[in-house]
Amino acid sequence: MNEDWKFERRRNRLVIELREKGIVDERVLAAINRVPRHMFVDQAFHARSYNDEALPIGLKQTISQPFTVATQSQALAPKRDERILEIGTGSGYQAAVLYEMGAKVFSIERMRALYERTNPLLKSLGYRIVTMFGDGMQGWSSMAPFDGIIVTAGAQEVPEVLLQQLKLPEGMKSGGRMIIPVGPREEQIMTHVVRTGESTFESVELDSFRFVPLLGSTVG
Ligand code: SAM
Repeated sequence: MNEDWKFERRRNRLVIELREKGIVDERVLAAINRVPRHMFVDQAFHARSYNDEALPIGLKQTISQPFTVATQSQALAPKRDERILEIGTGSGYQAAVLYEMGAKVFSIERMRALYERTNPLLKSLGYRIVTMFGDGMQGWSSMAPFDGIIVTAGAQEVPEVLLQQLKLPEGMKSGGRMIIPVGPREEQIMTHVVRTGESTFESVELDSFRFVPLLGSTVG
């Protein structure tokens, strides 16, 4: 899969760095060790693609920092074959990491130009991810309910529509969960929400991050 020894060594070093920064989920680290991040950025950024930094992907958008991707993936902790909805496909990198963890991934992007670039890229790399061009704030009702939802843009508040697309708890099995950065433009708190009943949810706040904003309506 576009393997290249030079990038493989850099990827190994990135995994060591993420471990040192506190990522402990071996499934997340293994997935990051498999996904060729350089393929998700412009060639001009190849040399920096395994640095722990966000990089531009055009249209004022970014591929998230690997530490952020790892933190969100670890908090979501998708199990094999769980249905996961991502809001904000962007470069497709986060979706690929979740796919490598064994999840069934659905992903929505609001910018047509990004959707049209990323959809064929994911296919060419062998990632069977179902993507859609649309406003992720509306979720994906025809594919719901989801075991997990991951929002990769900063939200001012948790969208009610998305909460309703989380699975309800069943017997001993807990309800769907959502990982979403919530807060003003300058800084958001990563929030872990779990559905506990028809209209009840529990949330826990994790660390603070800075994302590009989650915006309603589509572009292009
Ligand atoms: N997950 C992406 C990745 O791995 O590259 C991160 C991309 S970037 C931090 C956030 C993305 O969310 C952008 O591509 C942006 O266009 C998209 N976005 C923002 N609001 C959205 C919405 N309402 N619906 C869908 N995508 C949205």
